[in-house]
Amino acid sequence: MAARFAKLGVITVRDLLYFFPRHHIDYSRRSRIADLEPGIDQTIVAEVWQASEKRSRRGMRSTEAIVGDETGTVRVIWFNQPYLAKRLSTGTRIALSGKVDLFRDQKVFQSPEYEFLESGDLIHTGRLIPVYPLTRGLYLRQVRQVVKDALDLYLPDIEDFLPEGVRTGAGLMRLSEAIQQAHYPDNEFSKDAARHRLAFDELFLIQLSVLSRKRDWREARQGISLNPEPECLARFLASLPFDLTSAQRRVLDEIRGDLAQDKPMSRLLQGEVGSGKTVVATTAMLLAVASYCQAALMAPTEILAEQHFQNICRLLGDQDGDGDVCCFPSPLPRPIVVGLLTGGSRAKGELHRRIASGEIDILIGTHALIQKKVEFHRLGLVVVDEQHRFGVMQRVELRQKGTSPHMLVMSATPIPRTLALTLYGDLDISLIDELPPGRREIKTRWLSPQRRQDGYEFVRKQIARACQAFIICPLIEESENIEARAATAEYERLSQEIFPDLRLGLLHGRMSTSQKEEVMQRFRAGEIDVLVSTSVVEVGIDVPNATVMLVEGAERFGLAQLHQFRGRVWRSSYQSYCLLLSENPSVEGAKRLKLMEEIHNGFRLAEEDLRLRGPGEFFGTRQSGLPDLKMAQLSDVGLLEMARSEAIRLFESDPQLERSEHKALAGAVARLREGAK
Ligand code: ADP
Ligand code: MG
Repeated sequence: MAARFAKLGVITVRDLLYFFPRHHIDYSRRSRIADLEPGIDQTIVAEVWQASEKRSRRGMRSTEAIVGDETGTVRVIWFNQPYLAKRLSTGTRIALSGKVDLFRDQKVFQSPEYEFLESGDLIHTGRLIPVYPLTRGLYLRQVRQVVKDALDLYLPDIEDFLPEGVRTGAGLMRLSEAIQQAHYPDNEFSKDAARHRLAFDELFLIQLSVLSRKRDWREARQGISLNPEPECLARFLASLPFDLTSAQRRVLDEIRGDLAQDKPMSRLLQGEVGSGKTVVATTAMLLAVASYCQAALMAPTEILAEQHFQNICRLLGDQDGDGDVCCFPSPLPRPIVVGLLTGGSRAKGELHRRIASGEIDILIGTHALIQKKVEFHRLGLVVVDEQHRFGVMQRVELRQKGTSPHMLVMSATPIPRTLALTLYGDLDISLIDELPPGRREIKTRWLSPQRRQDGYEFVRKQIARACQAFIICPLIEESENIEARAATAEYERLSQEIFPDLRLGLLHGRMSTSQKEEVMQRFRAGEIDVLVSTSVVEVGIDVPNATVMLVEGAERFGLAQLHQFRGRVWRSSYQSYCLLLSENPSVEGAKRLKLMEEIHNGFRLAEEDLRLRGPGEFFGTRQSGLPDLKMAQLSDVGLLEMARSEAIRLFESDPQLERSEHKALAGAVARLREGAK
């Protein structure tokens, strides 16, 4: 049984106490047999008159019984449970909960929940009954019993970690009562009060943990002030082929202000795909280099790292950008050297040496940057791209490569405020809320299934105009293998039946990094007309010539994710198009696809997405660093704001949580921070 519980993530007694039911069934309505009404959930207490095993003509074995109270009798059938007959000896008192059906004008209970009255508190019948998530071989009745035993044994010892002032101030139930009521509530009201308390706990602990992370960086450390001659910055900006937008200039000022401090910066730079974050990050890295420090940028995939490398080299004025370094007539007495380090890099040892000696000024790479062997000479700034792809710990690990470097994290996924406060409450936020001039909206259309051919024709026309197309295959959550196979099949079908005369490419998550890379290079070089891909293209790959994207099974993706996809054809000054195909979307799905046609602002889409689907689905990935919330809803702004302000207040009075009355609380925060690793 322990192994089965472990599958559900329940290992310790604490896990069990916090293993909350999915929902409750209301069996609190008591009835006498004569008053039973068909079709509604009700409970009777009755005595067994007789019970026996029955075998149907098809060989199915079941238990049949007649039970009675002072008002009459009723027949009961439990299908497939022949063993029950033996336990229901005449005269046994039981409670039954469920619905009665009419069968030839007779009332019959079909497979009701049952409970022997001698066994103590009711846990299956006669009240609000918990329904737990299950796994193979683990039964609801067992889980109820095990949880009930745990509650009886351990709840009396549980310590309430919320300081009394916070608890009463926020009008919350005591912890032990809340846990009890979350499983076996007295009534709907106390069930809600319990959930409210437990939801507060989750949000409050998260806020304390982000605040303590912020404290760890702010207070404990002396940062490096990066404040070079302004002339260097001016020269760089003048060398760019465009003027910064006013939003870019504003966030750059915010970043410069932070870098000049001797406290390490922790800043989140948010901006839509194509809003020009890379230029801003490059400028920041240049400021570090001009202050005789190194800078590092970590991207979630090799393709992205390579793309950043090329873009940054180009921005710095390097024309060929083909080798592993490039130069820029720099403020230093020598050229600036940019390096690329990924899992696939050759001659890593040599790269490591040049990083450690300080020969490499700006290092771009993947997770390879946080490996042990990588040591910097003097790391002044770390930049993390597509932040939500990394866990909190990876961010911290990169930072630990320096003594206390400044940190800039970038995200193209617009994050609604509640989520931002939860995930990134330790960061200051800068927002690029403006796109470079001349960008056109991507025309987005949702096509009904009958118009699939029109969609293909449209793709064909774009390609005839020397453009390129993406076709995104449906999301299959179960496994990357199945998804890869489905994408391969779709690729075959499209190559043979729809576009036999065009050059198609295939991209999916099961391909090796070098295979993926090769396909992307060929697509970028214009050797492929149509790239058939799974959702792996989501993260920012640029192909300026791609003007149309056709998304299959569009209703399965989140709005934020669709918006990310759409951003892949937002690179050119041509008009771009996004076609959404969906076989038969639900009402909800149809509503969401309509929103994609109408809304072009990523933030508004993100808010809608969060509201419609909840935070777990929001990023389309579990690896978001998002803590596992059982009770809290991140859409509950009110509760979140309350938890945050209580956390800030508590932190002001006891930033280290070292007072004796905060000991249990400090423990809970430590557990959460440990879990986030
Ligand atoms: P992001 O990283 O935010 O998705 P990028 O920094 O890659 O966006 O910028 C997208 C494209 O827009 C790049 O080709 C970049 O050179 C260009 N760009 C950036 N800022 C500006 C600007 N202010 N004016 C014109 N083009 C710009
Ligand atoms: Mg980008």
